[in-house]
Amino acid sequence: MTGLSDSFQRPINYLRISVTDRCNLRCIYCMPADGVCLMSHRDILSYEEIYTIAQAAAELGINKVRLTGGEPLVRSGLPRLIQMLASIDAIDDISLTTNGTLLSGYAAELRQAGLRRVNISLDTLKPEKFEIITRSGNNLSEVLEGIEVAKSVGLNPVKINMVVMAGINDDELLDFAAKTINDGWHVRFIELMPFAGENTMPQQFISASDMRRRLELLGELEPCLPSIGNGPAKYFRFPHARGTIGFITPVSEHFCFRCNRLRLTSDGKLRPCLLAEDEIDLKQPLRSGISSAGLKQLIEQAVANKPLHHHLAEGYLPKDRPFSQVGG
Ligand code: SAM
Repeated sequence: MTGLSDSFQRPINYLRISVTDRCNLRCIYCMPADGVCLMSHRDILSYEEIYTIAQAAAELGINKVRLTGGEPLVRSGLPRLIQMLASIDAIDDISLTTNGTLLSGYAAELRQAGLRRVNISLDTLKPEKFEIITRSGNNLSEVLEGIEVAKSVGLNPVKINMVVMAGINDDELLDFAAKTINDGWHVRFIELMPFAGENTMPQQFISASDMRRRLELLGELEPCLPSIGNGPAKYFRFPHARGTIGFITPVSEHFCFRCNRLRLTSDGKLRPCLLAEDEIDLKQPLRSGISSAGLKQLIEQAVANKPLHHHLAEGYLPKDRPFSQVGG
C-alpha cells in the first residue's frame, strides 16, 4: 500500500460514507423547507456495494471511515454494515455521525459490531427550541439518553456537534460550555455554512472567534490536543474541565489545506469536496461489473480532482444537493 495523495500533496485517508438520504429530522440549516426529493431504494447503494467500494479504497490507503447521512440510524441493519467494514484489515477507525434520536436503542449493538466513536449533532438543550430547529422533533430527551447510553457502552469519545446560529441558539453557548466542565462533554461549535436551499440567513452566522470571546466569560480557554483523530476542529478546555471545546471554522478560517477526505453519497457518487459539485459515479460501473482495478482508478481520479479549497468566500455555493444528501 503506497497511500493516496491528491494533486496538492495532501494525504487522503478518510472516507465519509452517507448510507441514506433520509432523515427523521428536518433541521433548518440542513434541509430546504419543502423537504427534498427522496431517492428510491434501488438508487441507494446496497451494503455489499458500499463494502466493495470501501475495500478498494482501503487497498489504496483509506484507513478511516465515518458513516453519516441523512440520518444513518434510520437505515435498517446498520450494525451489519459496520461489521462488514470492520472486517477490512486496513480500516482501523470506524465512526458515526448521528442526530442521536435512535442511538440509545442501537449503541450497544453498534459498539459490538466495531464502531469506535460517535459524533452527535445537538443544537439546543431546550425542548421547545429543539422542535423549532429540527422542524419536527419533540425527542430531545431521546438524544440526551442516546448520549448517556453511547458513553456507557464504551463509545469513546462521544462528541457533541452544535451548529451555532445568532438569535436561534447562541444564547446557549455558555450552557453547552458548562457541560464540558460539569458533565465531561466534548462539545464542538460549528460555524453555520450557507447552502443553496437557504433557510438560514447571513445575519445568523457567528464566527468562532466571536463564540470564543463569549465563552471566555466562563474562564480562560486553554489550547489542548484532540482526544482522538486529526479532524478540522481546534481544541481548548477550561481549567479542570474533563471535557473539551472544539471550534470548526469552515467559513471564517477554512481548513481545506489539510483536508484528507473523500465523500461517498448514498447513491454512489464519490465527491472530492463537500462544497463543490464535482462527483464521480461509482454505482453504474459497479452494477455493470467493473473490476477492482477499474474501481480503484475511479477513486484515484476523484482524489486527483480534489480542489485546492472551497470557494465560499467568493460566494460560490454548490447547488446540486443539500447537505442532507451529501452527508455533512
Ligand atoms: N443526521 C446526522 C446528524 O444529524 O448528525 C448526520 C448528517 S448531518 C448532515 C451531519 C452534520 O452536518 C451535522 O453535524 C450538522 O450539524 C452538519 N451540518 C448540516 N448542515 C450544516 C450547515 N448549514 N452548517 C454547518 N453544519 C451543517
